[in-house]
Order: sequence, then C-alpha cells, then structure tokens
Amino acid sequence: MTENTDAIIVLLDKCVGCTLCVKACPFGAIKMEAKKAVIDLAKCTLCGACVDPCKFKAIIIQKKEAKKTDFSDYKDVWVFCEQKKQEVQSVSFELLGKGRELADKLGVRLCAVLLGEKMEDKCQDLIARGADIVYFVDSPKLRNYLDDPYTKVLTALVEKHKPEVLLCGATTIGRSLISRVAVNVRAGLTADCTGLDIDPKEKLLLQTRPAFGGNIMATIISPNTRPQMATVRHKVMKEAEPDKKRKGKVIREEFPEEKYSSRTKLIDIVEEIEETVNLAEANIIVSGGRGLGAKENFDIIKKLAITLNAAVGASRAVVDAGWMPYSHQVGQTGKTVCPKVYIACGISGQIQHLIGMKSSDIIVAINKDPEAPIFSVATYGIVGDIFKIVPALTTEFKKILGK
Ligand code: FAD
Repeated sequence: MTENTDAIIVLLDKCVGCTLCVKACPFGAIKMEAKKAVIDLAKCTLCGACVDPCKFKAIIIQKKEAKKTDFSDYKDVWVFCEQKKQEVQSVSFELLGKGRELADKLGVRLCAVLLGEKMEDKCQDLIARGADIVYFVDSPKLRNYLDDPYTKVLTALVEKHKPEVLLCGATTIGRSLISRVAVNVRAGLTADCTGLDIDPKEKLLLQTRPAFGGNIMATIISPNTRPQMATVRHKVMKEAEPDKKRKGKVIREEFPEEKYSSRTKLIDIVEEIEETVNLAEANIIVSGGRGLGAKENFDIIKKLAITLNAAVGASRAVVDAGWMPYSHQVGQTGKTVCPKVYIACGISGQIQHLIGMKSSDIIVAINKDPEAPIFSVATYGIVGDIFKIVPALTTEFKKILGK
C-alpha cells in the first residue's frame, strides 16, 4: 500500500481473536494467526464490511484525502456524436438536448464531436440541434467505426481541448469507445446513466443510474478526474429539436497518419436480420405481462398492436416463461423505450420494468390490481380485466381508424 492510498489497520492491542471480522469479510481476506486478525491485502478491497461487526473497534480504515487537482483548464460539455453510414444516430440528438441543458447550467459551450468522412452537412445539423462548436475529423479511415483509430483520435481531442464533461450513447459503439478513452485519459466513467444534472454548488456532473439490480438509483460524481464521463442509454432522454437558425462554428481537426492506424480490419458489414418489431424506434408500444396467463393469450396484445400499427413489448416474466422472444423485452435487462404511447397490459410495474419505459410520453396501464405499482407512472389507469378491456379497445380503435 502506497502513501497515497487508503489503508486498513488491525489494532493488535484491541483484537481479541473473536473471528467476527473473518465471518463478515465477503472476500475471504481475513484469517486468524495467534488469535489476532491478519488481513491479506491482495484480497482486501477496503470495502469496510469488517469494520462495524468488530465490537472491539480493532479494525480501522484510514482514508487518505484525494490530492486536489486544478481543473480550471477543463471547460465545455462535449457530446460524442455517433454516426453509421454517414448518418448521425438519434442517440446523439438526445445527448445534445441534455448536453445543452448542462452547458447552460455551467455557463459553458456545448461541443459536438463528429468522426467520419465527408459529413460537413451533418455538422450543420448538430449546430441546429444545440451545439455551439462541432469538432469534425474528416478521414476515410473514420468512415466506419473501428476501436483503434476512433479511440486514438477522440483521446487526442480530449487531451488537446480538455472538456469538463464528455457524454456518449450507451450503444455498442459508444460502450466500446468511451471506456477505452476513459482509460487513456485516466478519468472516471459512469455507464448507463438515466439522469444527468449539475450540482449547483460544486458544479459537478451528477450522474444517476440504477444500482443493486435496479432497486436503488445511485447518483455518482467524479470530483477527482476530468473529463467527467458518462454513457446514456438510447431513448432515455428527449431529442433536441432542430433549429435551423442556430449559429455555431465547425472546427476541422487533423491528425498525423499514425492516429488512424488500426490493429483490426473491417472486412464487411452484415446488416442485422430485421426483428419483427423495432421496439426502440416505435411510436406506440403495446406490452403484455404475466397477467396474460399463457403464451396463446398474447394474441390479444398482438391484435391491438396491429390495429394501432404498434410494436409489441413484453415484461421479463413473459420472456422468461418463453411466451415472447427476448428481443421484445422492455426494462433494465431488455430495451429502453420512449414511445409516444406505451400501453402496459397485465404488467405489475416492478422497478426493473419501469426503468425501461417510464419516460414514454403517455402511459396507459391496464391491471386488475388497483395497487399495482404501474399505476404510479401511468398517465391513464384502467383497473380491470385485460381479457375484457384489451379486445374492447381493439374493436373501438378498429372502428375509429376504419380498419
Ligand atoms: P407480475 O409482477 O407477476 O405482474 C403481473 C400483473 O398482472 C399483476 O400486477 C396482476 O395484478 C396483473 N394481472 C393478472 N391477471 C390480470 C388480468 N386478468 N387483468 C389485468 N391484470 C392482471 N422485468 C422486466 O419487465 N424487464 C426487465 O428488463 C427486467 N430486468 C430485471 C433485472 C433484474 C436484475 C431483476 C432482479 C429483475 C428484472 N425484471 C425485469 C423482473 C421484474 O422484477 C419483475 O419480476 C417483472 O417485471 C414482472 O413481470 P410482470 O409485471 O409481467 O409480472
């Protein structure tokens, strides 16, 4: 253990060899030698689980004050704008919406970062969506995502311009890229945030995400490193509306050839075989839960979905029971959705489900239990039997929509 790290100490004069600490340690890091606790520092994570159980106050953790670093050079909020086939992905517009809000609270600029080839026109779209500055790196080597060049270029940009906040979509590309950049710049990273804000006093980024299986929401801060980095799931935040009149500046950045080198080569891009639904992009979703009772009863959900031109969603209970494939699952371990209308049928509304759909514009909940937690997020609640209500809705919508 070095001078700058925390330390755990056994006070030998107080230790009576009672072994309570041995039982409390989740990592098997404590054993007794000559009736005294001995801590294996290779196994100990300094979690502190042994400190309170010791009735004799024989174990203490000494926290070293983190060295205060001067971060006054770090300014601006950055959004990494992901593109595929030269199209900026909509998650970037969501991040620009939130980024604008954060930048305004901090009184700094909102900057978009775009890596690609021949995408000048897209830079203007990013300005329309709220960016004050667009850092654009234009190279055929950046046309498609590859870990090495993207990581090296984004790291170089961060080191050069020093943003105080860097946001990225929690997409396959975003997750791969941003964790590598965080390691390179030795910054903290909070993955899968569902909420972002600024602490009005300390001006720190408040990064909120589900923790402990979604049972609590944890707000995380990164006071000792810069940039403060976070990924955000698609569809959790609202897209910034475009305003063509907005003015901003495009800064083209160039790097030496070695920044674009890659240990991997892109051979081909194989499009994913279309799922029957694209939940993530749907405007209306009709979702079914365990209340349906059996696989074949899902037909009433599908009929309402077809009538409304909607996608079909499902709770994990339904997916686990094999009534619907995993691609339909909404929630913490499924998809996050944000449709205009979400109709939850026979879904209780456990936190893990709510996390995936609660930012929908309108939520209609149908459940026979008036106490079901789904009603706490519902815009409209119908207490009753789904087997009566859902077919009745289908019939009425068919009439109204002339189907
Ligand atoms: P239930 O909780 O059993 O609810 C069924 C509801 O149907 C009840 O409220 C009941 O009143 C109602 N009902 C019954 N019959 C009728 C009827 N005839 N008419 C009207 N209402 C009726 N869950 C997800 O959905 N998505 C996730 O991504 C997810 N991830 C998870 C991750 C972890 C780590 C864990 C621990 C759990 C996760 N879960 C997830 C599971 C979650 O905790 C719940 O178990 C699950 O969402 C429950 O599904 P349900 O609402 O369909 O079933």
